[in-house]
Amino acid sequence: MALNLDGRVVRDRFKGELIERVKKLGGQPVLAVIQVGSLAASSLFVSQKVKFGEAIGGKVNLINLSAQVTFAELQNQILKLNQDSSVRGIIVQLPLPPHLDVFDVIETIDPKKDVDGLTAINLKKLWTNLPAGRQVRGDAIIPATACGVLSILDFYKIPIEGKRAVVVGRSNLVGGPIALTLLGRGATITICHRKTLNLAEVTKGAEILVSAAGHPGLITKNHVSPGQTVIDVGLTPGLDGALFGDVAHAEVAKIVGAITPVPGGVGPMTVCSLFLNLL
Ligand code: NAD
Repeated sequence: MALNLDGRVVRDRFKGELIERVKKLGGQPVLAVIQVGSLAASSLFVSQKVKFGEAIGGKVNLINLSAQVTFAELQNQILKLNQDSSVRGIIVQLPLPPHLDVFDVIETIDPKKDVDGLTAINLKKLWTNLPAGRQVRGDAIIPATACGVLSILDFYKIPIEGKRAVVVGRSNLVGGPIALTLLGRGATITICHRKTLNLAEVTKGAEILVSAAGHPGLITKNHVSPGQTVIDVGLTPGLDGALFGDVAHAEVAKIVGAITPVPGGVGPMTVCSLFLNLL
């Protein structure tokens, strides 16, 4: 049976460090979280952020906006938070209703307060720091999900440099940044997406396989091989509030060397990474 890569254990390892850092700050760091609409899964993810933020001694200001909010209204709200010196970080919970352009919304966030690391300037910094596995420059913010993936690999001492890594999913917000950060750490990267032919052939050749497709059950026993490390980033909400990863966990865990569960894998470390970025 594969080694269980428990994201909650990794998160708890960082939690003590974050509590100490907050104490040293001498004031409560404030993270503003904007939720547009009331999708059940978004409310769950937001509540996890509030809970973790409070647990480390920080404060999360939750701003709920109606699903009908206009871009101008949302933009105004973000601009106010940019100007508010008591607010250290800002995130907009995704997904947004279809009438709002996610990239325009994210670009409104001051890059210095962009704890999700998704503004173009932060992604560009990630890209320009790539050569030869160099560490990301001090002022660049690693996108929280990518940071979560790296933290799990590092905690379990899974080498990245020189390894063949396959990332399924090429979105600008999840798969792309994960691939970039692994590339920055010296892995050889293949990125797969909906148009990839013979997905199983490609994923089987990975030493590290990261799936960020949002397609439950996509990665089956036919997509993996012995000894691989499998990181399941997918989080698809079911009708009853349950969350599903991309990986058919039970059958894949019998074959590979190490695997993250869903829930309890990348999710908790993504939340923790937001606060690492905040501080
Ligand atoms: P998206 O829909 O924008 O992108 C999905 C990507 O996966 C696309 O590039 C698409 O081409 C690819 N893909 C989809 N189905 C595929 C298939 N059958 N074969 C090959 N490629 C396929 O989604 P996103 O915003 O990038 O999010 C991806 C997943 O990550 C979602 O489930 C989301 O909830 C999850 N997520 C998890 C965390 C976490 O902390 N664990 C954080 C953010 C997002």
